[in-house]
Amino acid sequence: MSQHFLLTAKARSLSVREVFTLGDEAAFELFRELRWGKGEEVVCPECGVVERHWFLPSRRQWRCKACAHTFSVTSGTLFAHHKLPLRVYLGAVAIYTNAVKGLSALQMCRDLGVQYKSAFVLMHKLRESLIVQREETPLSGEVEMDGAYVGGHVRPQNKKEERLDRRLAENQSPDKRCILVMREKRPRGDEASAPGGAGRTLSFVIRRENQADVGTLARRFIAPGTSISAEESDAYDLLHGHFPMHRVNHACEYRADDGTTNNQAECYFARFRRMEIGQTHKFGLRYLEWTLDPDPHDGRYTLYMSYLLRQGRRVRHVGLDEHLCGLFSEREWMSAIRHAGFKPRRLPYDHSTWERHAHVMFIGIKPG
Ligand SMILES: [Zn+2]
Repeated sequence: MSQHFLLTAKARSLSVREVFTLGDEAAFELFRELRWGKGEEVVCPECGVVERHWFLPSRRQWRCKACAHTFSVTSGTLFAHHKLPLRVYLGAVAIYTNAVKGLSALQMCRDLGVQYKSAFVLMHKLRESLIVQREETPLSGEVEMDGAYVGGHVRPQNKKEERLDRRLAENQSPDKRCILVMREKRPRGDEASAPGGAGRTLSFVIRRENQADVGTLARRFIAPGTSISAEESDAYDLLHGHFPMHRVNHACEYRADDGTTNNQAECYFARFRRMEIGQTHKFGLRYLEWTLDPDPHDGRYTLYMSYLLRQGRRVRHVGLDEHLCGLFSEREWMSAIRHAGFKPRRLPYDHSTWERHAHVMFIGIKPG
């Protein structure tokens, strides 16, 4: 019987013990190698010149031969201006990446022996770097899609007669979000290094599982011709026009007769839910990455403003405003002002620091 991948030596590539037994010099060398490779040449973050720049051993810094800028191994990275020894940051990376079901900043601060705020900021920097460097080329082969709802828990009232029916849309919190996941399925190989399972995963935060968002994201992040598996929600129905689709109805079966499952997407959410229950306990809206531009080439965005009216502790009304914002042509502005019942006028808008007549403003005049 072959060994499970997670029990093999390959799955233990980053150990906290090894990191913390590194001396200052070894930690510095490791950082250097991770950033610029094994050679003598390093890259100036100021001007980008690759050279054997002058090394200042006492300060462990380099001076650029091209622009004379002084830089360290962490300059221009998220560890720049660090105050703790480098091995503590390596330790943080090891602890963070090994905690596959998430980790709280409180636990990290106890493990590293640093203040809570330091651990909190450090973990957010690691998360930011993950999202900034996310590989977003389209997924291909076989892809599974699924959604799960997080956040916006409405706490039931103490007295039964005061409790709201939380299944109704008007009683749900506007903070609720849907995490949509797309996961590449990796074909199972013969060797232990190709254990099947999942390849690349992309996740997105959307308001709810719906055809418009699912369609836009699928066309942008999934290559044409990719076969997609999804469950029976009608949010995936329109994808049939663009991709070869396989559906599995989870109300009746976990595996359709044609062999379709959504197991890799489910597996992602299984870990995700364990993070929610065991580590974060809840998801605050502000910690979800929820700014997403479905079409990066247009000049507009939709701003949603949701508000809660409370009476005492009771939610009386939940409202949602939708505003279309962005850059519009002059013609569109004029027609919008006219459409609102005003007479549009175009005036020069000058300022002492601007070039003359470089800007204009539009005003709407109330008729009569
Ligand atoms: Zn330089």
